[in-house]
Amino acid sequence: MDTIDIENRLGITFCDRLPLAFTHGKGSRVWDEAGREYLDFTSGWGVTCLGHNHPGITQAITAQAAKIIQSPNAGFTYSPSRAALLALLNTALPANLARTYFCNSGAEANDAALKLARKITGRRKVISNLGGFHGRTFNTLSVTRGLENSGRYTPKQHDTVFVPFGDSEAMTAAIDADTAAVIVEPIQGEGGVQIAPPGYLAHIQAQCRQHGTLFIVDEIQTGFCRTGKFFAIEHEAETIAPDFLTLGKGIAGGFPFAGFAVSDAVAGQMENDDHGGTYCGNPLGCAISHAVVSTLLADNIANEVAEKGNVLLAKLERLKTTYPALISHVRGRGLLTALAFHDPGLTRPLTEACAEAGLLVVPTRNGIIRLLPDLLVSHADLEEAVAILNRIVGTFR
Ligand code: PLP
Repeated sequence: MDTIDIENRLGITFCDRLPLAFTHGKGSRVWDEAGREYLDFTSGWGVTCLGHNHPGITQAITAQAAKIIQSPNAGFTYSPSRAALLALLNTALPANLARTYFCNSGAEANDAALKLARKITGRRKVISNLGGFHGRTFNTLSVTRGLENSGRYTPKQHDTVFVPFGDSEAMTAAIDADTAAVIVEPIQGEGGVQIAPPGYLAHIQAQCRQHGTLFIVDEIQTGFCRTGKFFAIEHEAETIAPDFLTLGKGIAGGFPFAGFAVSDAVAGQMENDDHGGTYCGNPLGCAISHAVVSTLLADNIANEVAEKGNVLLAKLERLKTTYPALISHVRGRGLLTALAFHDPGLTRPLTEACAEAGLLVVPTRNGIIRLLPDLLVSHADLEEAVAILNRIVGTFR
């Protein structure tokens, strides 16, 4: 079968694909149709946090599939699988977030949070950050990247105001009694791994409290140990207690699953029919997520990620010292890392050259590549990936 030809003729794409078709994976490695092996430093857009073909996930899938995948009148009835996940996740969530709803994608989680914040407050205005990414539904596009992007689909869903990421004064100037919500990532992932300056989240939180505005923290990319804490807000000196915490990606190690957690106060203002969906909180997804979360917690993966992240960052810093004319910045926290190049046009050729050399990286706009290995990656694989990068970056001199 010619996978690429069939997909090109019969499928739809919204991007210029790489001519690669993967058949299987194990741990941090994947293989393509020709049997070529690659180191996967993408984790499928930061999703396969326990690597590929993890026995705990495979076991959870087969065990739950042998029982029930979708409940009768799902959502309208209860599910032991969902109850088990709720109880487990509750031990990892910030203390103020008492209740969680599970859905199917990060965009849906943010979409619901924005919709509910608008309804609860009765206000239309939402503040987001330039460079932020919150999804591709109409609602979430309206708060994604900036006016240039959200203006492609008009009219926007909200009276959105974009402020520069990390600029507390701009946030203070923008927020007012008409503001329904502020939505923010603790670290902008798609924006190129931009880390919020210390105190920024606490400042937004204080401003939200002052104006009766709901505070939505999007941990879809940063949650589930990716940054070396279970949630990235735990890096902050002050306690961050959002009204909504949105969850996705690593939550189920590669299975499409997501959610949003809210305080009791917010949950108390929701009504029947405010949200729902055929597959929301389905038993299979809950069982898989339970396997992932219990592994992350039992094996204290967050600490390991913090340690490996420091090792990786130190190696990338050395790479930057070797190629100062090419690499402008190294950024990261835990295993959410990025290399930024002076030339914004380098993203694509670097991604292709790395793949050709057996290393898969995440192409990110403006001359940035992200390195998002799975959280169980070995030190030897970190070493090998940086050795490949060293070789490839050297060819762009
Ligand atoms: N929010 C953040 C911070 C993300 O990084 C992403 C995806 O990259 C999303 C939301 C959207 O999630 P999904 O692609 O699952 O809809």
